[in-house]
Amino acid sequence: GGASSSGVKQQVKLEKESELRIEVGNDAPLCLRLLNGNAEIFGTELAPEIWLNFPPRLKFAVFTWYGATIEMEGTTETDYTADETPMVSYVNVHAILEARRTRAKASSSGDSESSQGPRVIVVGPTDSGKSTLSRMLLSWAAKQGSKPTFVDLDIGQGSITIPGCIAATPIEMPIDPVEGITLEMPLVYFFGHTTPSNNVELYKVLVKELGGMLERQFAGNAESRASGMVINTMGWIEGVGYDLLLHAIRTLKANVVLVLGQEKLYSMLRDVLKGEPKVDVVKLQRSGGVVSRNVKVRQKARSFRIREYFYGLLNDLSPHSNIANFSDLCVYRIGGGPQAPRSALPIGAEPVADPTRVVPVNINRDLLHMVLAVSFAKEPEEIISSNVAGFIYVTDVDIQRKKITYLAPSAGDLPSKFLILGSLTWLET
Ligand code: ATP
Repeated sequence: GGASSSGVKQQVKLEKESELRIEVGNDAPLCLRLLNGNAEIFGTELAPEIWLNFPPRLKFAVFTWYGATIEMEGTTETDYTADETPMVSYVNVHAILEARRTRAKASSSGDSESSQGPRVIVVGPTDSGKSTLSRMLLSWAAKQGSKPTFVDLDIGQGSITIPGCIAATPIEMPIDPVEGITLEMPLVYFFGHTTPSNNVELYKVLVKELGGMLERQFAGNAESRASGMVINTMGWIEGVGYDLLLHAIRTLKANVVLVLGQEKLYSMLRDVLKGEPKVDVVKLQRSGGVVSRNVKVRQKARSFRIREYFYGLLNDLSPHSNIANFSDLCVYRIGGGPQAPRSALPIGAEPVADPTRVVPVNINRDLLHMVLAVSFAKEPEEIISSNVAGFIYVTDVDIQRKKITYLAPSAGDLPSKFLILGSLTWLET
């Protein structure tokens, strides 16, 4: 349980190794600052006395290693202190990873094995705190001067860009407690759906493409190679979801698997990875502070992520409305559709859908309210293997005039005329 507070300024004294867990109210932001002592939010230290402004609905914890006093003002849905946290075990994992990074940095042998820092993958059921642990490991590493690559494979609730994508970005500074990961030039691949079951084969292909691209980047960058990766995954851990986890572990060559809060998954992965040299499978406790989110809350969170892409977290961006001729754009979707017409097949054979076929899409009213990715591809054949530059949101389709109106984060021409359509929709509210 926990109390909620409204309006008034209040101070909270935190004992060592305890945390203040907060859910900001639905309608108003919350201001909070550190009065004395030391405290961090998911691995990022708070500067003393500076007010931070947390947007509505944000859920987070202020943790202290040695004790702190926090002051807050505004409305919370809940706030309570907890002195039982798994933070000591998490920071111990960090210490081991950091030692491996140091060793990788020191290795002058140019030998790819010893100069490669740890590749950590965080797995576990939904709401086990995977994103949060990934974030802590990244911020602690950045604080010590490492530049780990964050890879987010969670197409439902990812934290690098909008839903429906897998993405990677180097983390050079502790992650901002309010704004999260600030997007400089993330490497993004568009899957187009918020669950992998829409096209499992495509999901695998994109993980492979992303992995290949990272491998090439590491080859030319010893520092980021030595810093390794932290990979966040989806909460789908049964059946096909489990296969996809294994696929990600192998494709991205993860060598540390952190399993959060599930004994069964831990023992399955430990057994299956036993044969594979130098993969450590580690079981970690789930934090009692992780907030469970139901289907509706998740749907809402996805919608906010898309809104944030165009309008900014605090409504501080102004997207541009642009108009293009149908003939200026080429829209494709990936997968589906029979490979060959039935008439071309041997008698009795069923046409099979090719999950990675790039299929041209007619521009019509069906595109209304869809979010499309702008590919970096130069030819349609390159669409699957190309990352994307960004996204547009279709606000009007004028069939008569053959014009399409869309929202883009900035004015001017799109970087490419190749657009990818999935099933990602958004209703601007
Ligand atoms: P999913 O599989 O759905 O992506 P997840 O396992 O990645 O979920 P998180 O996103 O890390 O889970 O956590 C769920 C929510 O709980 C987030 O809003 C996060 O900020 C919040 N949370 C995590 N740890 C704490 C904590 N110790 N105190 C308060 N809130 C927390």
